[in-house]
Amino acid sequence: MKILAVSDKVASELYVPEMHKRLAEVDLIISSGDLPWYYLEYLVTVLRAPLFYVIGNHGLEVRQDENGRIIYPGGCVNLDGRVVRVKNLLLAGLEGSRRYNDRPFFQYTEEEMMWKVIRLMPRLFWNRLRYGKYIDVLVTHAPPYGIHDGTDLCHMGFKAFLKFIEKFRPRYLIHGHQHIYRPDTPWRTRYRDTIIINAYGYKVLELR
Ligand SMILES: [Zn+2]
Repeated sequence: MKILAVSDKVASELYVPEMHKRLAEVDLIISSGDLPWYYLEYLVTVLRAPLFYVIGNHGLEVRQDENGRIIYPGGCVNLDGRVVRVKNLLLAGLEGSRRYNDRPFFQYTEEEMMWKVIRLMPRLFWNRLRYGKYIDVLVTHAPPYGIHDGTDLCHMGFKAFLKFIEKFRPRYLIHGHQHIYRPDTPWRTRYRDTIIINAYGYKVLELR
């Protein structure tokens, strides 16, 4: 299975008409957040693969109607707080970053994120009974604590994600949030049984 993972930056390489030929075999698109809706809608339309996303901490990607309700991108599935099964792959999502200011959306304290993890658990245990595994891919915006993360509060990762990895052993954790400016910055790291990918820009992953 071929997965296109995107995050944080509109990749001009993907935004050209020939792109759908180069990525014709993509089975699944994952967005780890902080991307404009038009870009997600473009990818899902051109590649004709299902797109699952979480929202990043930047409200600017979010459109609201005149009543302040959030308008979600068309044809895409918000994974936050959900577990879905698509093409034999079990996905779960956790949006947002660490809380660093008083804006109301998409920021969580460590404790709040741990509660989001706990709320996923009944479905994860059910997966284990039904499919013999808890989860294949955890999609997040923020990285796990100490892996690909920053030292300031906004960019610090979540310890809750480390606990998730230790207990539920996903094959992949795909995140964004931490921008990559240097070619030698690590973007793929193994922790226990899980490969952690920073999807900044875009990454193409092959899952057996
Ligand atoms: Zn972010």
